[in-house]
Amino acid sequence: MSNETPLMKQYKEIKEENRDSILFFRLGDFYEMFFDDAVIASKELGITLTSRNKEKGQDVPLAGIPYHSSASYIAKLVRKGYKVAVCEQVEDPKTAKGIVKREVVKIITPGTVIDTDYLDDKSNNYLLCVYIKGDRAGIAYVDITTGEFRSTEIEGEDIISKALNEIHKISPKEIIVEEKTYEDFSSKFKNYAEISEMTMQSVPFVKNSELVLKDYFKVISLESYGLKGKREAVAAGAMVLEYVLELQKYNELPINKISYDNSEDHMELNLTTQRNLELIQNQREKSNLGTLLWVLDTCKTSMGTRMLKNFIKNPLLKVETIEKRQEDIGYFIDEVLIREEIREILKNIYDIERLIGKVIMGTENGRDLIALKKSIRGSLEIIKILGNRQLFETDLEKLVGIYNLIERSINEEAPFSVREGGMIKSGYNLELDELHDLSKSGKNYILEIETKERERTGIKNLKVKYNKVFGYFIEVTRANSSLVPEDYIRKQTLTNAERYITPELKDYESKVLNAKEKIEALEYQLFKEISSGVKEENRDFQELAQNLAYLDVVTSLSDVAIKNNYVKPKVFEGFSLNIKGGRHPIVEKLVGAGEFIKNDILLDEKKSIIILTGPNMAGKSTYMKQLALIILMAQTGSYVPADYAEVGIVDKIFTRVGASDDLVSGQSTFMVEMSEVANIVNSATEKSFVILDEVGRGTSTFDGISIASSITEYIHDKIGSKTIFATHYHELTELEGKLKRAANYRIEVKETESDVVFLREIVKGGADKSYGIEVARLAGLPKEILNKAKATLKSLETKRALIEKKMKGEQLSLFGGVIESKENSVEEEKRVLTPEEEKAIGIICDTDLNALTPLDALVKLSELKKMLK
Ligand code: ATP
Repeated sequence: MSNETPLMKQYKEIKEENRDSILFFRLGDFYEMFFDDAVIASKELGITLTSRNKEKGQDVPLAGIPYHSSASYIAKLVRKGYKVAVCEQVEDPKTAKGIVKREVVKIITPGTVIDTDYLDDKSNNYLLCVYIKGDRAGIAYVDITTGEFRSTEIEGEDIISKALNEIHKISPKEIIVEEKTYEDFSSKFKNYAEISEMTMQSVPFVKNSELVLKDYFKVISLESYGLKGKREAVAAGAMVLEYVLELQKYNELPINKISYDNSEDHMELNLTTQRNLELIQNQREKSNLGTLLWVLDTCKTSMGTRMLKNFIKNPLLKVETIEKRQEDIGYFIDEVLIREEIREILKNIYDIERLIGKVIMGTENGRDLIALKKSIRGSLEIIKILGNRQLFETDLEKLVGIYNLIERSINEEAPFSVREGGMIKSGYNLELDELHDLSKSGKNYILEIETKERERTGIKNLKVKYNKVFGYFIEVTRANSSLVPEDYIRKQTLTNAERYITPELKDYESKVLNAKEKIEALEYQLFKEISSGVKEENRDFQELAQNLAYLDVVTSLSDVAIKNNYVKPKVFEGFSLNIKGGRHPIVEKLVGAGEFIKNDILLDEKKSIIILTGPNMAGKSTYMKQLALIILMAQTGSYVPADYAEVGIVDKIFTRVGASDDLVSGQSTFMVEMSEVANIVNSATEKSFVILDEVGRGTSTFDGISIASSITEYIHDKIGSKTIFATHYHELTELEGKLKRAANYRIEVKETESDVVFLREIVKGGADKSYGIEVARLAGLPKEILNKAKATLKSLETKRALIEKKMKGEQLSLFGGVIESKENSVEEEKRVLTPEEEKAIGIICDTDLNALTPLDALVKLSELKKMLK
């Protein structure tokens, strides 16, 4: 027979229903974790692992945390991707018959955290659902701390990869996938290092999904949300909603609407491009340092930063919408004073989105209401400053009412807790004021008791004190014990003193404490009434938050434009890209003011592909990324780092940059490179902008050149995208003669006797030299290696010249066709070096002349002569 205690039995039953969560099991003032949960928690939280019932031979691992500090522990576990189920005692232990009843009251997952104190305020905390059906996918995501709920649909071949691009852009904290496609999805998902760490689970399909959404939003049709006929998006939306409602069954949610984003309204950026352009996160340490966000974000509110991130990840395609943003930015560039005043006020505006979310979910406190009040005041000041400028459409009338309500009722220095009073201002509620008077007079009377008792007993140092265990008591030092009157009741003996109570003292104590209890209860009740008034206006607050965030973004972008000397680009429905004096927004900040060398570009119907050559370190990657970033910035509405810019709308940017093994998916460098290129040539259109950096380097030279050239030809003939192809293969420059719209450019360097100087200027024509060895020297490679490399290079070049010569005067282009007749060449025929000759050259190169005496030199010369005979 099992000798399990009833408590353990209860624990196991509850755990059985919450197997995928770490169960926080409430025992008195602690949450206890048992078995595997205890082991995980002790490791992840750094708390002690003990065991229970060891003596009974049931070595049960156990770890516990005090309930009052549970929030930070829960947040820590959830951040690490765990799900936490909080199980409470749901009846009073004093009145319970048998074991206290317990229930799981909330389950917290990474995407459903509502305790905003532990979230990054500059990022949204999204829960996302992806629903795949055939070649279509519906994606829906929600941030329950702000109420933002969006959906979209995508379609095409390899739909899972496409969905992953979207997911990377949205960066949810948790993903739910419909169970039928879960296996397929998760096997692909694991290949993406950046997102594979996200928590993911399978959820059942929600039948009648349209009805679920309609019921929740209390609407008769989803048409006004743009969701009519969007079956996949609706399905994903319903799954998100059901999941959230299930976990948050005790909380009302701030979700007031679901919106539909047409994926055709935004520029497509695949996962690799998002990663390569380092828009929001850098690749090294995953922070925002050195990213586009780092340059553009001078927002004063977290709402602004969150919106700006969204803008950067979703460049626009409609000229009109882009121009609207440009116009707003332009206004604040011109109106310096207005801009500065507004930015100053924005500093004092709080995260309204999340504050109102807390109010709706009932987790707000007095300080949150004060923060809302201050934000309304700030908004009113802003509206006044903006005057007639129609940037701000929220009707603040109702919010002014809320301002007055909070102003009248809530103490500026409200405490953190809402259960201990001290929030409500005096004069707001008569009953509360009376209770305060009562409590105060009771306290005063108790103080009078001290004076009275001193006189009565003659004990001069007699004191009336208070503590939580005994309440009020009289303390008399040992030396005076003999003077204590008969009616004193002894309560406690200390080393130097005795503590007593008297009936009179207890009588007043109960009056004071009763009043205190009543005050706390009444204050809580009043506070909740005030909050519910605030809650009524939640839609106005949400709209205000959006307006303020937008204002923050445009004022921030105008501030950045001025400080960094950006210009307004001309965006238009057309093909060409014309930039004069362009700069890389991030590199120019890193190399220091004035140090960055500007460059131009002109791509149009006549010239759409550039073959860019130039030595390592010359600045090829910088130049190409600079163009991609300028296009992207222009389409977010931002001004751009250039003297002049005309940007024909680009539908997708593709970048194939650098070489890296994808260890997670087990793909080699070359394989990764080729699959990225495959994705580009399969998805790019005439309106896309493509940068290819060193394609074909992962295999042998001839393979590489052949692949690189045919990719270029394919893009030229079949796709027509604007393309920059940086390469070390000088052979590719021959494409200029072959492809009508291809042109060669190179990045200039100056070669001195001992050095190469990078000029970083783009000029017409191809480079004929790589300077690889010179750059290797700059990188600190040992001299010995460099000398050997020089000798080998020389020998290879000689051999190649010879082969070319042997082609009987006619040098064939690598890509077919005669490029130049060499019939009349007067150059002497060169022969292949013998191994001895190669060795001799190596020795000469390796010799350090400065370290040689004349005699040593003679000896060496004689050795060489012998060798060559
Ligand atoms: P590799 O072929 O080795 O990849 P690359 O030609 O792509 O080299 P980049 O990585 O673009 O070279 O540039 C190297 C460094 O040169 C940059 O990190 C930057 O510090 C500097 N640089 C590049 N372009 C410029 C410029 N226009 N003005 C000033 N500094 C620049």
